[in-house]
Amino acid sequence: MTQFKVVQVADSGFSAPEWVFTQLAEAGIDFSVNFCENGDDLARYAGDADVAWVFGGSPVLRGDNLLELKRCGAILRSGSGTDNIDVTRATELGIIVTNTPDAVAPSVADQTVTLLLCLARQVLKHYHLIHRGIWDFQAAMPHGDLQGARLGLIGFGRIPRLVVKKLAGFEMQIMAYDPYADPEKMASLAVQRASWDEVFEQSDYVSVHCPLTEETHCSIGAREFQMMPAHALFVNTSRGYVVDEPALIQALQEGWIAGAALDVLQKEPPDADNPLLAMENVIITPHIGGTSARFPLEFYKYSVEAILDLAAGRWPRSVVNLGVTPRWGKLSPSIYTE
Ligand code: NAD
Repeated sequence: MTQFKVVQVADSGFSAPEWVFTQLAEAGIDFSVNFCENGDDLARYAGDADVAWVFGGSPVLRGDNLLELKRCGAILRSGSGTDNIDVTRATELGIIVTNTPDAVAPSVADQTVTLLLCLARQVLKHYHLIHRGIWDFQAAMPHGDLQGARLGLIGFGRIPRLVVKKLAGFEMQIMAYDPYADPEKMASLAVQRASWDEVFEQSDYVSVHCPLTEETHCSIGAREFQMMPAHALFVNTSRGYVVDEPALIQALQEGWIAGAALDVLQKEPPDADNPLLAMENVIITPHIGGTSARFPLEFYKYSVEAILDLAAGRWPRSVVNLGVTPRWGKLSPSIYTE
């Protein structure tokens, strides 16, 4: 029988720890690391791999490059967003796309709550005022209490569900738009199901958590910012390209909304002349939502778990393209329950 083969084809600056090699070898898996930049590299190093493993945001697994993965039954993306993978093409080819969102969701939820609180209480604005010698609480009043305020979520996956749990003590009224989410999950967390327009029209705070897909690309633009109340605050920890950034800049410059906190931008790092960098009602962090002291370990833990599942012919914990008909044939059910 041919040995199950896994090739890590892209990295994110981390080297796989020794235990990863040991654990996979003990499971009889042939694991190697060979970074690929194009289709030729993929053909050479991963043409006979059962799993192509991408750690980070490499775009190498897009378009016709996937045709070089002749034996590949699954693409593993260590991380959450799979906008760097051609999921549609993979699905057509019968390749499962799996990821490790549970490795980072708690940190991104922490980041979301942090940004929300800093915006609401004008923390950054007072930081700048104090550094200019201005000690004056009236120079930047908090935007209002969180208690009783309305928070609107776009997307109701793992991260926003954790945000809801972490914010429970603040007694906010929370609504969410997610056409694919289980209504019972919303109800169990006392979150009101809302339409797209209701989220933007009725929220004091909007927090974005949907993945970047063809459907969501630049989906939040001038129309949405104009629907928001002028006192509303906007938080985005998902992906920069979910938002029409020029429209956001206009909304902030012209006072359609009161402020924004962004962990993600269309261009990272941004150009020095990006107007967002000069706005005192904007907080920007350098795409650190998913990072924490434990995150590389968590990435490897969940990634190895997914590989062991796939090698055993089981569905892994998190599947991005649930509608895929695997080229491997039928898999046994996942052993995980949410
Ligand atoms: P998840 O896969 O658990 O949930 C995604 C949710 O989005 C699902 O419930 C899905 O139904 C919903 N969705 C899909 N299309 C939608 C649409 N058009 N409108 C509204 N909802 C839609 O994902 P998650 O773990 O909650 O992560 C969400 C996103 O956060 C990721 O896709 C990723 O882009 C981003 N992220 C950012 C960081 C960071 O460092 N800032 C880290 C991890 C993830």
